Amino acid sequence: MKKLDRIEIRDLQVFGNHGVLEEENVLGQKFLVSATLYTDTRKAGEEDSLVNTIHYGDICYVIRDFMRENTFQLIEAAAEHLARHLLIETEGLEAIDLEIKKPWAPIALPLDYVSVKISRGWHRAYISLGSNIGDRMMYLEDAVATLEADRNCQVIQVTDWIETKPYGGVEQEDFLNGCMELRTVYSPDKLLEVLQDIEQQAGRERKIHWGPRTLDLDILLYDDLVIDSKRLTIPHMDMHNREFVLAPMTQIAAWRRHPLFHKTMKELYEELQQKLKEKADVSDTREETSEKA
Ligand code: ATP
Ligand code: CA
Ligand code: CA
Repeated sequence: MKKLDRIEIRDLQVFGNHGVLEEENVLGQKFLVSATLYTDTRKAGEEDSLVNTIHYGDICYVIRDFMRENTFQLIEAAAEHLARHLLIETEGLEAIDLEIKKPWAPIALPLDYVSVKISRGWHRAYISLGSNIGDRMMYLEDAVATLEADRNCQVIQVTDWIETKPYGGVEQEDFLNGCMELRTVYSPDKLLEVLQDIEQQAGRERKIHWGPRTLDLDILLYDDLVIDSKRLTIPHMDMHNREFVLAPMTQIAAWRRHPLFHKTMKELYEELQQKLKEKADVSDTREETSEKA
């Protein structure tokens, strides 16, 4: 990510009812909120105009109201929800470091304060969509609409839908496939969970691996992240071998680099086409030879 400018808010005093103890929820207490807001201030700086930047005055009021109007047991939860709220509500805010201090934490020992500090931000993900049962277009477009309606996501671009032959050797109907670019505040795990919910709502049944499905949503890329956990492999493990992924990706993300192969989507697509062509040529030659024999 390019280096962003920072706006700092230090130790804003707010009153709230957060805490595990009942007295804390009833009586309330003082909290100190600090935030580093990551944004691009260049335009505001050049034109000296408030219209082009984040108004830190407004942000302070949003923080105050949020801390006053919501009640959380843990400052971890207050921080998590407040960070998300600010990212979603503040145009131009790309990321935030947020610290909540609790100077009157009821632990009967002298201390300055306890605090939690978190960093959150918007991320860019690419999702592959596929369907080969029923009204395929409807399943794909409903999935896009559901993500558009989710405040934690912004659909940036969607490719054309393309008709493709099934992949992986199971005899089944042709697929309709495409990809989309998403801006999201969800973590990779949470995003997977949300996508799986959408698959469920589309009546997806998990029977055979690579078998027919109403809707399949895979995470291809998530920023430049590389992870391999039990539930989630990013970049998608097989994306570089799939024409139905790389063709659409070339349409919306031709210059995006695969974080492991360090090649652009366009390069991967051209290499794959070359490989498929060589394979086809080899099998043509084989057929010719066997016809002669
Ligand atoms: P493939 O992943 O090869 O396209 P599939 O989409 O048919 O196969 P599914 O049955 O939809 O496979 O998913 C199986 C599991 O894959 C999911 O439960 C999920 O935990 C895991 N998974 C791992 N990496 C990803 C990813 N990047 N996107 C989506 N699911 C993933
Ligand atoms: Ca898949
Ligand atoms: Ca899948």
